[in-house]
Amino acid sequence: METLPNLIGGRWVVPAVDATSPVMNPSRGEAIAAVPMSGAAEVDAAVSAAREAFPGWRETPASERAQVMFRLKGLLEAEFEELAKGICREHGKTRVEARGDLRRGIEMVDFACSAPTLLMGECQENIARGIDCHTDRVPLGVVAGICPFNFPAMVPMWMWPLALVCGNCFVLKPSEKVPLTAQRIAELLQQAGLPDGVFSIVHGGREVVDALLEHPGIEAVSFVGSTAVAESIYRKGCHHGKRVQAAGGAKNFLVVMPDADPDATATALRDSAFGCAGERCMAGSVAVAVGDAGERVLPGLVDRIGAMRVGPTDVDEQPDMGALITAAHRDRVNELITLGEAKGGEVIADGRATSVEAAPDGFYVRPTVIDRVDYANDIATTEVFGPVLSVMRAKSLDEAIAAANRQSFGNGACIFTSSGKAAREFRHRVSAGMVGVNVGVPAPVAYFPFTGWNRSFFGDLHMQGREGVSFYTKRKTTTVRWFGFGEGDIWVKD
Ligand code: NAD
Repeated sequence: METLPNLIGGRWVVPAVDATSPVMNPSRGEAIAAVPMSGAAEVDAAVSAAREAFPGWRETPASERAQVMFRLKGLLEAEFEELAKGICREHGKTRVEARGDLRRGIEMVDFACSAPTLLMGECQENIARGIDCHTDRVPLGVVAGICPFNFPAMVPMWMWPLALVCGNCFVLKPSEKVPLTAQRIAELLQQAGLPDGVFSIVHGGREVVDALLEHPGIEAVSFVGSTAVAESIYRKGCHHGKRVQAAGGAKNFLVVMPDADPDATATALRDSAFGCAGERCMAGSVAVAVGDAGERVLPGLVDRIGAMRVGPTDVDEQPDMGALITAAHRDRVNELITLGEAKGGEVIADGRATSVEAAPDGFYVRPTVIDRVDYANDIATTEVFGPVLSVMRAKSLDEAIAAANRQSFGNGACIFTSSGKAAREFRHRVSAGMVGVNVGVPAPVAYFPFTGWNRSFFGDLHMQGREGVSFYTKRKTTTVRWFGFGEGDIWVKD
């Protein structure tokens, strides 16, 4: 089985380490590659190569850096379907979902192409007589990115396209569960003409992460993953003097008002909770049905679930939902459903014990709905990260907003209603950074920031948009005065 090489200083090298971790095809439960568990030596080599490349890359005009992204965009479009198939194979999501994952990543490349405009500074003449002031955006140096498994293309591309066009060198640690897409896109970056050393990949797990956080040659770290790890990375990175943005887990509430369109809402709930098999930080996790909204919407949701085909995604005939990432994760999701039921939840659609004839060793759980959940039930507060929607009942919008605000995360929150006033109240009062009004997955596009709150984000500057540019640059403010003309400057004066 192929052991993946790291990319260091423009060369692909399999590190001399004993330990590897398998990359699985979750649709089949089969190992398809092995990831080397690199360590501090590989991180140090990548950072040294990046530091060597930095002065040249920093001097490269932003317009030329953007040209690399234009060329990369062309290469990504040309290979779009092959890349999407690769995402299906290493992750298990459907082809449609894989295309979405890649499209969202390419949108970050599109956004990065506007680097010459994004990097413009500010200036003002005559802040005092004869004195001018300029603020420039300057790259940080070498920066690192540490990624989760659930979006093999998009999440790494939240980070490196912007970091690179801002003039930084980048060291990526992909998720050890889905490293192949990042690997292929790095080859395309090389083809697009990125100089050696500007972008590196070091594969591995915790040892690589610790080495990145401790390395004095790294100025900033971007992290996306679960909350416990995000918090520890934020603390450790800050302790080592780095700028850190760390996006964590989520528990997204979907409030359904009695005046919501029943059909459109049932479809939106299905797509929010079960799209990407629920392995999305913006997945709807708890629906709060206000008044008789449960009776109006849940039957339609259960019908839609009954029609969903679950199965392998590494084939032409695509299902509606694929497998979970690992056997261990499938088992955990099954256990959480059982616990939710034991604490009083009514399982009205049961996805446990799912077997798929075409792929008996795949990691499948069918869409599950647990009704009549409350805060005494752990399922209301735990991130499941699988195809499970819990349902709470509330008497009023006030009660529903209080329920949404009681948990500790703050990524997404949605309301389904035909009342502008209810939507306005919800948007104003809900404690989450990304709000949907009749939109079940309100994940912002590339030129808006991805603004998680509370325990869904640690740091100040989010990924994407102009906040991303601010994260990957520091400001330099220069105040300029020129003294009076000298004796010899006769061509300036009459
Ligand atoms: P994870 O936290 O297990 O792993 C993320 C990365 O951290 C991986 O590269 C992994 O190798 C590394 N890692 C894992 N444990 C570590 C440790 N103890 N110390 C140092 N590094 C460690 O997350 P995952 O299971 O890959 O991804 C799913 C999680 O990511 C979910 O919680 C999901 O909500 C979250 N997520 C959040 C966002 C967001 O924008 N907020 C987006 C995508 C995913």
